[in-house]
Amino acid sequence: MKSTLPTIDFACALDASDPLSKFREQFLIPQHNGKDTLYFTGNSLGLQPREASKILQIELDDWAEFGVEGHFRARNPWMHYHELFSERLAAMVGAEPTEVIAMNALTVNLHLLLVSFYRPSARRTKIICELKSFPSDRYTLVSQIRFHGGNPDEDLIEIAPREGEHLLRIEDIEKAISDAGEELATVMIGGVNYYNGQLHNLERITKAAHQVGALCGFDLAHGVGNVPFKLHDWGVDFACWCSYKYLNSGPGAVGGAFIHSRHHTTQLPRFEGWWGHDKDSRFKMEPDYASMGTAESWQLSNAPVLNMAIHKLSLDIFESAGGIDALRERSIRLTSFLEKTIHAVAAVTETDLEILTPSNPEERGCQLSIVAHGQGRDLYDKLSASGVVVDWREPDVIRMAPVPLYNSFEDIARFGQILTDAIK
Ligand SMILES: *Cc1c(COP(=O)(O)O)cnc(C)c1O
Repeated sequence: MKSTLPTIDFACALDASDPLSKFREQFLIPQHNGKDTLYFTGNSLGLQPREASKILQIELDDWAEFGVEGHFRARNPWMHYHELFSERLAAMVGAEPTEVIAMNALTVNLHLLLVSFYRPSARRTKIICELKSFPSDRYTLVSQIRFHGGNPDEDLIEIAPREGEHLLRIEDIEKAISDAGEELATVMIGGVNYYNGQLHNLERITKAAHQVGALCGFDLAHGVGNVPFKLHDWGVDFACWCSYKYLNSGPGAVGGAFIHSRHHTTQLPRFEGWWGHDKDSRFKMEPDYASMGTAESWQLSNAPVLNMAIHKLSLDIFESAGGIDALRERSIRLTSFLEKTIHAVAAVTETDLEILTPSNPEERGCQLSIVAHGQGRDLYDKLSASGVVVDWREPDVIRMAPVPLYNSFEDIARFGQILTDAIK
């Protein structure tokens, strides 16, 4: 049977029957010709929560009223602001509250974590990552290797997909790890690949790394707020993420880090600052550092409250939507609906639209990466002119992410119609 495009009515009925659809109202959707855009780039920058300016104003008002005393007298005292995130971030990534910390930005955190978790020794000097990891991650790994006096050409092992394939197979990752064996210091992989949307098996990768005596961490930039994780139970050593993608906390907003509790009180080397100092005695301002003994000990500076205010709001929205597990359930339905819609557009227009992202929902988050064979940049221009916001990578790859908090089935059905017209 030839597949047909889903109708707008059908999609609206799906929206109407899902209680999570109402969360869209809590976000400001960018406009195009007076109407909501079809915004599918929450994987690059999540949308602004409607209450963001109000929440920010509270902190500005408290600053105006209390000045420095806001550290204690603000409605959410700034002194302890970062503690507001422990429970919520722990739920988001499957950790103990003492294992997570909101701080800095993603690439900064990756460097700080590698100070602790990449410690090349005489034999163990290598890092494993995936070929074509996010450029900033690669720059980080290469510069860390150089910092330790190593040679990135020898010490960075980049795992490539098999000939003719786009995705990494878990057994190939495991094999690369066991082949590196005692020369392997650290594995650092993007939990969800930013380009093709593949969700890796973090548990198996961690196990393989530990089997050869290496440490294992993940960049969850495209994973956090997108899929649930169990970082603690899987024994992951470290992880970091940003909050401006699926966590909707605004451009350049505060990043986050996970450090497994087993590493909290060991003598791992670490860069230290006053906000990692035991808070009971921090303001005695003594010269010697006394560690907090939790992930908080990796903090350097006092909290950037203005940007954290929106992060807090955003995590509150996740919580009121039932948390990441409830959203994941809706996300799987939305992305399957998008996948079917793409297949239908391909059939109706008789074009080759190849989806790079795994078809198994267990191996992907919400993003689909589509190769529009035989189409060029004018396809992207036509989509943009019709109010569709997707990411275009030369020569012909569309990356798009239906986000369960604010994208609708209707968005997807409308996208299907616009894409069909744009290809015709
Ligand atoms: C978005 C993203 C970054 C960006 O890093 P910043 O330090 O937040 O600018 C880095 N790595 C990955 C994998 C990303 O997806």
